[in-house]
Amino acid sequence: MKFSTRKTAVALVAAGLLVTTAACSGGGRGGSGGGDAGSTTDSKGALVGIEMPTKVDQRWIQDGDNVVKYLKAAGYKTDLEYADNDIPTQGQQIETMITKGAKVIIIASIDGGALGQQLDDAKAAGVKVIAYDRLLTGNENVDYYATFDNFKVGVQQANSLLTGLGYLDASGAKTGKKGPWHVELFAGSPDDNNATFFYNGAMSVLKPLIADGTLVVTSGQTGFSQIAIQGWDPATAKHRMDDLLAKSYSSGKIKLDGVLSPYDGLSNGILSALTAGGYKPNTSDWPVVTGQDAEVTSVKNIAKGEQYSTIFKDTRKLAQQAVDMTEALLQGKSPEINDTKSYDNGKKVVPTYLLPPVVVTKENYQKELIDSGYYSEDDLK
Ligand code: BGC
Repeated sequence: MKFSTRKTAVALVAAGLLVTTAACSGGGRGGSGGGDAGSTTDSKGALVGIEMPTKVDQRWIQDGDNVVKYLKAAGYKTDLEYADNDIPTQGQQIETMITKGAKVIIIASIDGGALGQQLDDAKAAGVKVIAYDRLLTGNENVDYYATFDNFKVGVQQANSLLTGLGYLDASGAKTGKKGPWHVELFAGSPDDNNATFFYNGAMSVLKPLIADGTLVVTSGQTGFSQIAIQGWDPATAKHRMDDLLAKSYSSGKIKLDGVLSPYDGLSNGILSALTAGGYKPNTSDWPVVTGQDAEVTSVKNIAKGEQYSTIFKDTRKLAQQAVDMTEALLQGKSPEINDTKSYDNGKKVVPTYLLPPVVVTKENYQKELIDSGYYSEDDLK
């Protein structure tokens, strides 16, 4: 029922906009009579589609808003859509963007491999496609990719877990403490290409320490498919943490020391399971929990000492990168890239621009998030 309502809404929007486009087609692109005739100015006013996965994860709202802001400032029209984490909705929204005459579509996918038809249709209509943050896989019609260094995100998450546990100090040097520490591991959604990058990055650090007994994963669950959380769903993460506590820690003999969490939303689920399981924040028994995205709730939890760390990925910078790529494509230029080998999508290695992620803890959130203007003091009250 939900689907058909959505479908109707999408179709109506598409129809309405088609009428609008037809009605003003004389004055749109053709109406630049008095301006200079260079291809640079001709591209101004072009429509750019921005397709985002969900508003549940706060970062995508910031991503969407920033991309729109920068595109508008650069003189482009925008169509920003959110797909409510529903794969068919995302496909329909992209089709509608193509029909409306978008020249470039920037896509943060839900399932990176589920948009093959839309990518083929975009190619056929001469629309350029930029994969935003998450790689689009299994199809050659992906022109560019703008993201953060996803493997490094995983390395940083693992290192911050080790710092929180006391194995490493703040500079990343070994403290000499030997553990063993009891930990549990979580990974992201299997349909998101980033999830395996985060996992592989984290395991590149953790695996040797699990092998030599410094870290003990009490449940024994270390394989990606055992620890992945479909759809990055916080409630699923809470249930898994509830189960782990009940099965592996309820005897009281083993205390959980840390949890590798790849995303702040999952961390929230994990923290509530810990509280429900009798762990008390700000006591020496409270586990170290990592995260990602520097969501407001999580930064507050970090300030309160409930979450240990997060990974800050400045969505302003990613948005700017995607907008610069868009502008270059519209002007017939080659977008700037800095990686031509890491992101093989199964059909091609997608030319990529990687931005650097930053670890945020109680020690540096003021500098990284407030002094940089990403959040105000009030946002974090
Ligand atoms: C993004 C992360 C985000 C996760 C859940 C990933 O693809 O790179 O920043 O935490 O999706 O939305």
